[in-house]
Amino acid sequence: MIESLEKIAIQHLPHFSTQDVQVDILRLDLLHPIVSGNKWFKLKYYLEDALAQNKKTIATFGGAYSNHIVATAYAAKEAGLQSIGFIRGEISATPSATLRDASNYGMDLVFIERELYRDKEMIMLAESKQGFYWVMEGGYGEPGSKGAADILQAADTRAYSHILCAAGTGTMLSGLVRSALPGQEIIGISVLKNHMTLEKEVLSLLTNEDRMKPFSILHNYHFGGYAKHPPELIAFMRDTWAKENVPTDIVYTSKLLFAAKDLIAANRFPGGARILLIHSGGLQGNTSLPPNTLPFS
Ligand SMILES: *Cc1c(COP(=O)(O)O)cnc(C)c1O
Repeated sequence: MIESLEKIAIQHLPHFSTQDVQVDILRLDLLHPIVSGNKWFKLKYYLEDALAQNKKTIATFGGAYSNHIVATAYAAKEAGLQSIGFIRGEISATPSATLRDASNYGMDLVFIERELYRDKEMIMLAESKQGFYWVMEGGYGEPGSKGAADILQAADTRAYSHILCAAGTGTMLSGLVRSALPGQEIIGISVLKNHMTLEKEVLSLLTNEDRMKPFSILHNYHFGGYAKHPPELIAFMRDTWAKENVPTDIVYTSKLLFAAKDLIAANRFPGGARILLIHSGGLQGNTSLPPNTLPFS
């Protein structure tokens, strides 16, 4: 397991802060160079459960640049479990760095043609005799949500009034809502275009009590869709690195930080707000970019 939760730190962001609001970032990306961030928290209880059930192999799904795939490969290895990844798309003669890393951590990769990949139930059914322990794509589910609830315990986060995170499946968002203290508002930035079922998917991970807590999801910061990264976003990432010394990824954290800056400029937060951004990691995803696109790696 990653023993180094103490590497997680809170960093102040002077160029995001204003006279009215103070902004900090929780650097989960510092956990590990490849297996950083929220995936680690989301996988914890799945691994515990798999071990308790005497399972030998974790099976899961993801694309060729998936943070979840590489994190699962690493976490399974650390837990003494085998892993198998069902990967969307065709096998390539030049595999992504993500898949090379996953494979180096011992994951078996099975490539599934895109049309078939959509039908996860079919894939699971076809493999049902294998006795795999299945983890849904992105770690969506109750154990994932429970693990993400531990994120706010990684540092002293009690004084923040607003906590912002990127949302893919919404599992991390649900975990933050679960562990939010009275008076803390959670805001999720959806990175998928028109993912209008996200609210429902988050609510289904929450108890009736937690559903009453203040949380919301913003759908207008996806920059064209999942992993889309127009020049404006790349320029913002370079600027954030230069000014705040914070590296971001093209899929999640750049869009979160952009949204935060935009919301602050639009006076979305009351005076005196203390805002915490969750840097959920994911930097390995930048390996999909041409070399030297970004001044950090
Ligand atoms: C997977 C991921 C997310 C999204 O988490 P969900 O729980 O699926 O919403 C956010 N940030 C990073 C860096 C990720 O890898």
